[in-house]
Amino acid sequence: MICYDYKILEARTRETKVLHMQLQSPPRAWAEISTDALRHNLNVVRKAKPTHKLMPIIKAEAYGHGLEGVARALDNEGIEFFGVATPAEALRLKVAGIKTRPFLLGPCYPGEREEVVQNGWRISISSMEEAQHYESLGALYNKQVPVHICVDTGMGRSGFLPTELPGMMATLHEMKHLNCEGVFSHLSAAAEDISFTHQQIGGFEDAVTELGQHHDFEYKHLCSSAAVFNYKVPSSNMVRLGRILYGFSPMPSPFNSQLQTTLTLYSRVMLIRTLPKNHGVSYNHCYITRNLTKVATIGIGYADGYLQYLSNQDAKVFINGQYCPVLGRITMDQVMVDVTHLDEVQTGDLVELMGPNVAWAEITRQANTIPSNVLTSITARVPRIYV
Ligand SMILES: *Cc1c(COP(=O)(O)O)cnc(C)c1O
Repeated sequence: MICYDYKILEARTRETKVLHMQLQSPPRAWAEISTDALRHNLNVVRKAKPTHKLMPIIKAEAYGHGLEGVARALDNEGIEFFGVATPAEALRLKVAGIKTRPFLLGPCYPGEREEVVQNGWRISISSMEEAQHYESLGALYNKQVPVHICVDTGMGRSGFLPTELPGMMATLHEMKHLNCEGVFSHLSAAAEDISFTHQQIGGFEDAVTELGQHHDFEYKHLCSSAAVFNYKVPSSNMVRLGRILYGFSPMPSPFNSQLQTTLTLYSRVMLIRTLPKNHGVSYNHCYITRNLTKVATIGIGYADGYLQYLSNQDAKVFINGQYCPVLGRITMDQVMVDVTHLDEVQTGDLVELMGPNVAWAEITRQANTIPSNVLTSITARVPRIYV
């Protein structure tokens, strides 16, 4: 097994953090996170699903919002679990003193399981091999291991197949250190294929009936953002909330208009220059000025997460109440925009690259990607500021 020197890694991140705190200058680019909007969106779902418990998903820096910041904002909101992807994310919650328990959404490989059991983190099982390993670790540490049985109703990523379920509970009951507190599944096309989604819901209901003959599950969960407002799952009592918590609902719904923007990506005008007609802008001269053009250079680039794919896609930024087109290619640390039409613009002026005036959904379309990809691309160079 490859062993990294965690002490060195940890020391490096601590140095970076200290340096950041010593910096006198304001950040070049930053993401402002509205904790009120996060709580508001959580409550929109609570209103829509009053009988359901809530599992906010905060994997991948809480979709770019910052893991600890979002965890702190929601820790006292009467939620059940925080959905995370990796043991490292679960550990960060522990170190931050978060009291809501982490749930590891996907499988854990053998080298991770010991730590998971020691910490009592919620895990899924998709195979008897995992069940037996967790059972033996539970015995080793004299601990109950809280597990959620994953059923593959059509996602094809993890879970027991429905054909494996009959008789399975009897085998699991013999494993005295497993506490099978949950059963769940994941939808693969809730926003795209309604009839397939109904098949998956049917499969989930059947699985809960089958497994439930021999066991009472405290948690039964299937829906994530694309499904919460639009589908009914009679047996479920919990929903997993990713994108919707961050203001994006993938399906049309009357609730959508109630969701608020949670993240605004800002930078500043660093330089303003006037370029003559027929002057190329940025790499490869993808853009050539047609007239005398006032060009502002902004202190953000694709290395901050302002996606390279937005180059030459009619992307716009928002400066002093007006939209300004991005010119040519986005570079690693800077982007140029047309400010010819602005009455007033100065170096240091605020630039909104994404937020209430520049919709996340629009950026997603222009970059020809999916919404989560836009937010998870915001890099560590961008400080998250919670308001
Ligand atoms: C990431 C993830 C979610 C959240 O998905 P959204 O569509 O963002 O709500 C829910 N469940 C599982 C298993 C996931 O991996």
